[in-house]
Amino acid sequence: MTTTLERVAPFTNQAIKTFSDPADAAAMKDALAAVRARFGEHYPLVIDGKKIETEKKIRSINPSHPDEIVGLTSSASKDQAKEAIAAAARAFESWKRTTAQERAAYIFKAAELMRQRRFHYDALLVLEVGKSWVEADGDVAEAIDFLEYYAREALRYAQPHPIVPIDGERNELVYIPLGVGAIIPPWNFACAIMAGMTTAAIVTGNTVVLKPSSDSAVMAAWFVDLLHEVGVPKGVVNFVPGSGSEIGDLIVSHPQIRFISFTGSKEVGLHINELAAKPLPRPKWLTRVVAEMGGKDSIVVAADADLDAAVEGVAISAFGFQGQKCSACSRAIVDASIYDQFVEKLKNRVAKISVGDASVQTNYMGPVVNEAAFKSISEYIEIGKKEGRLISGGKRAADKGYFLEPTVIADIDPQARLSQEEIFGPVLAVIKAKDFDHAMEIANNTEFGLTGSLYTSDEKKIERAREEFFVGNLYFNRKSTGAFVGVHPFGGFNMSGTDSKAGGRDYLLLFMQAKTMSRKV
Ligand code: NDP
Repeated sequence: MTTTLERVAPFTNQAIKTFSDPADAAAMKDALAAVRARFGEHYPLVIDGKKIETEKKIRSINPSHPDEIVGLTSSASKDQAKEAIAAAARAFESWKRTTAQERAAYIFKAAELMRQRRFHYDALLVLEVGKSWVEADGDVAEAIDFLEYYAREALRYAQPHPIVPIDGERNELVYIPLGVGAIIPPWNFACAIMAGMTTAAIVTGNTVVLKPSSDSAVMAAWFVDLLHEVGVPKGVVNFVPGSGSEIGDLIVSHPQIRFISFTGSKEVGLHINELAAKPLPRPKWLTRVVAEMGGKDSIVVAADADLDAAVEGVAISAFGFQGQKCSACSRAIVDASIYDQFVEKLKNRVAKISVGDASVQTNYMGPVVNEAAFKSISEYIEIGKKEGRLISGGKRAADKGYFLEPTVIADIDPQARLSQEEIFGPVLAVIKAKDFDHAMEIANNTEFGLTGSLYTSDEKKIERAREEFFVGNLYFNRKSTGAFVGVHPFGGFNMSGTDSKAGGRDYLLLFMQAKTMSRKV
């Protein structure tokens, strides 16, 4: 196992597996069988290093076969959530005194173990949240990247920082941790986002309570086990699954919580931001909130675009992982002069998308995550049928499991609900723009600002979009999904969140505060 404290070679991303290598495919089949063999296993809370089974359980189901229980996670009571916060506060007193090198060493070890067990993590994602094999591997590869990248970043921040010298004084600036954090991730990058948010917090010297998404609590349990396996001391990461509505409010408004790292929907993000502004009793700090929220991402297709490339980019961005990525394309804004041609080509492309059990290698799309999502997306499809013209899909794709067809609805008005509201499923609105000016205006007409893409062969349009397309992650002539750690620091504007730029050089700053020290000499 590599335990090098200082990584010498530059950071590079893990390559995502396509599973075209028969050895990879065989390993994945074995891993799926191994995870299936663990179906129904119980996962306890972990508070101060102690495993606690509760009577109340959160059921993680396989959305491809909802009658299959992937695992049962204990569900924390309010008192247990309070105990977890107290344990994190105690552990902070020693963890904050460890060096960045010590903390990074744990994380490098965890990255190494995750590499070794990669197919098992892939398989769990396939079975717990319905990712296709390739999407699952992309999620796990990103998690490994986050571990590697943030551990290196912690080492960088621990080095001396340049400040202007002055006669008669010796000055230095150091970054110190904040305290106890609440880590509240979503289910859609159940491995990467959960592991990335947790790692960033602890590698900088904070301690945390991790409240996972109730849809992917088993993956979080695996990760917490992994951290303890590599020796992260007790109390540094406390694992308290429980429904957001039951223990979430308590955690985010608790006076010992110094910061909250949240990724999820706009509604919950706003709610958390409000609660965090008035903890009771009032602590002696302003609770820091980093909230990454929803999106309504557009791909603009200009008259001069390579149409085949644009159709491909839109189809992949809209329907990869069933459209359940915050970066998913949910609006194609297409120049009127090529609109009909685009819609026809897109219809043909979408017809080739296979939908079915995510554990079958050849299925491009699996199920949506749960019954509530299935119902809500189905309702949006009905709204869409009234607001526009159904081009593809629109129906349930199988009797059992939460499968929906990839759905394209054309002729959507820029102000229609399908154009404005986050659906978070395989539903694409196609909108006709009179010209490029109009396309830019539509692209910026929602309350969100997460990702966007422009297909064009015209440099002037690219220049304009660089100025005007108001999103945190803007792409040209490529899909709107698939941000790589370190390469595409990720985060959005407006109601898409605080633009924390996960996987970027500024991210760890959000988990620290700077202390300047000056000594007369
Ligand atoms: P939710 O907002 O429903 O849930 C996110 C997390 O918040 C879950 O762990 C949830 O727990 C928890 N939660 C819910 N209510 C509360 C509460 N009152 N207090 C504290 N925690 C609470 O989002 P989803 O998990 O459904 O994720 C999908 C959303 O995430 C989409 O809107 C997507 O755009 C966004 N997203 C944004 C990203 C970005 O970088 N901007 C990246 C990925 C996703 P529980 O499950 O128990 O309810």
